Amino acid sequence: MPRLPDAFATLLGHSPEGVWSAPGRVNLIGEHTDYNGGLALPIALPHRTRCAASPRDDDLLRIHSLQDDSSVEVLIDDVADGHPAGWTAYVAGVVWALRRAGYAVRGLDVVVDGRVPLGAGLSSSAALECSVAAAVSDLFGLGLLGFPEGRDVLAAACQRAENDIAGAPTGGMDQAAAMHCTERHALRLDCRDGTHEQVPFDLSAHDAVLLVTDTRASHALADGQYGARRAACEQAAEILGVETLREVVGQPLDETLARLPDDVLRRRTRHVVTEIERVDEVVGLLREGDLAGVGRTFVASHESLRDDYEVSCTELDLVVDTALAHGALGSRMTGGGFGGSAISLVPTAEVDRVSEAIEAAFADARLTAPSSFAVTAAGPAARD
Ligand code: ADP
Ligand code: MG
Repeated sequence: MPRLPDAFATLLGHSPEGVWSAPGRVNLIGEHTDYNGGLALPIALPHRTRCAASPRDDDLLRIHSLQDDSSVEVLIDDVADGHPAGWTAYVAGVVWALRRAGYAVRGLDVVVDGRVPLGAGLSSSAALECSVAAAVSDLFGLGLLGFPEGRDVLAAACQRAENDIAGAPTGGMDQAAAMHCTERHALRLDCRDGTHEQVPFDLSAHDAVLLVTDTRASHALADGQYGARRAACEQAAEILGVETLREVVGQPLDETLARLPDDVLRRRTRHVVTEIERVDEVVGLLREGDLAGVGRTFVASHESLRDDYEVSCTELDLVVDTALAHGALGSRMTGGGFGGSAISLVPTAEVDRVSEAIEAAFADARLTAPSSFAVTAAGPAARD
């Protein structure tokens, strides 16, 4: 594959002004909590999406990807819900959102090259958006990368692109992670007020690794199920008379659940409340260096997502069960569920054994071969 600047020159006929990149992410714990004003704990992945770009002095966006043959040319002011369609919405939407937020941005020539597995629950979409946002900020002198509140502005524009132009009703965790995560740290993200805090996360000091397994499964039901879970949480919050389920964290759980009229709402609420509590448990355990405790909390999270929130699937359960049976300290699904990826906390000496066992279990079950890789906590969106 040609170098990205060379590919840019071939596709667009001139050299790019620069290259920017942003990471994918994996969430250590705190799943389906972002839209409940809760807590999450993502790390940035070493896998990044790079974006070569040049500014234009008109309003045209010319957008290409080395992962997808479809390219598009669109004027910024013609960008709207569903236009452009497909993956270019994530790019065009970011420029559109920054203009809507009042920034003087013009057109752009862009070629992206993504190394975050697409659609694996590792947030290639936010990596794409945030690499473009970083480029736009630098190319038009917005200066937003240089300070945390500026990065919040960029993250918000990226989320807006995803929600309003690409039509994906996601919370803000992915973009916050791509903008704010730092090397060797997890990001404790408070989705109620958007604040975040760095938590040391360096497993090499503990002879352990974080193994990500992309199950390669993606179930057609996922979209409707996500909406249904959000709706259930909103309904439960309304019955409980609170803005979001975050407000009932810390109150006696049995009493909260007793005020809900049916078993489904009770189980959904129990997941959200206990999952938010588990985030701070893990933060505390990481600060103490208690990896065995972190592993146990991962397992509790998985069981809650599987049984109470009902967003796991055969492939995710198989990774978790197999990893735990072969020496992992903990394992859980991560991301929205119904496919995507799982993470396992594994002693370094056991990594090969665990990933081979997962591969064998998938082969035995005649499932598509999964892909497992160890990751470390990497850095945020930046100019390369
Ligand atoms: P995830 O963010 O977990 O990878 P999403 O469904 O949110 O899954 O986003 C995946 C989509 O993002 C892809 O289907 C594609 O539309 C778009 N995308 C991400 N990276 C690229 C890329 N490098 N080139 C083209 N499209 C991309
Ligand atoms: Mg995504």
